[in-house]
Amino acid sequence: AEARQAAGARLETIGRLAGGIAHDFNNLLTAILGGAEAMRSGGLPPAALAELAGIEDAARRGAALVVQLLAFARQQRLQPRILDVNRAIGDLAPLLGRLLGDGVRLELALEEPGRRIRVDPTQFDQVLLNLTVNAREAMPDGGTLTIATGHALVLRPDGEGTTGLPPGRYVVLEVSDTGCGIPPEVLPRLFEPFFTTRPDQGGTGLGLATVQGIIAQSGGHIAVEGRPGGGTRFRIHLPRQDAPADPLPAPKAPPPRPAA
Ligand code: ADP
Repeated sequence: AEARQAAGARLETIGRLAGGIAHDFNNLLTAILGGAEAMRSGGLPPAALAELAGIEDAARRGAALVVQLLAFARQQRLQPRILDVNRAIGDLAPLLGRLLGDGVRLELALEEPGRRIRVDPTQFDQVLLNLTVNAREAMPDGGTLTIATGHALVLRPDGEGTTGLPPGRYVVLEVSDTGCGIPPEVLPRLFEPFFTTRPDQGGTGLGLATVQGIIAQSGGHIAVEGRPGGGTRFRIHLPRQDAPADPLPAPKAPPPRPAA
């Protein structure tokens, strides 16, 4: 528990730092993009215009990174609620299905209804979104993403895959894909902020760090393992709640259905 508290404090510091840097950085990018726009109207030769396009492109990528950094920093201000885990997943499933596209099947294997967790609802969605986007990247030729729920009784704090969790009853959430899998040498670094194996495709390395931060701050634990025959499985433990679920704000108009 002490280690988790230390990790939480470290994360909070990183988050504050990231937020501050992102803010300053954004001001610089605004100045760069503004300057580039002013130059554009200055009658430059074609070669210089091409250079300028490169500068603008880099600045826009920087701006996208800032958005991610801010999202990472924002996770410090959580508003936890008691959620029915299956309902939260079911509500998000249509969006996840659209994210995955036609090539990847989404399978839900939800255990008996009524299991509850205490987590910020937006952050919980963020966890599923980040894991889903990663899974999609890992399955360029199609496959299946399975989201399963279950429960576990942790008896010892060092029980398999639950390092540091206090003994008690937990809701277990598994997100598995049939994708490329993760090389063993990469596994230990997976949750590190800024660790990415795809810097050229716009990877920021903040997706899984954010996921781990949310889970840790909700009193849970996340572990990752390779699956036999390829693929990846993330297993999340979150403390099970006995209190009834909090009412959620009425949902907005249902999102449009994708064309058949
Ligand atoms: P990013 O997606 O920006 O690279 P993440 O923190 O989300 O950053 O992920 C870090 C790295 O973990 C990825 O670059 C990728 O190599 C690996 N990874 C994450 N999820 C999966 C997955 N489902 N299958 C295979 N590799 C994965």
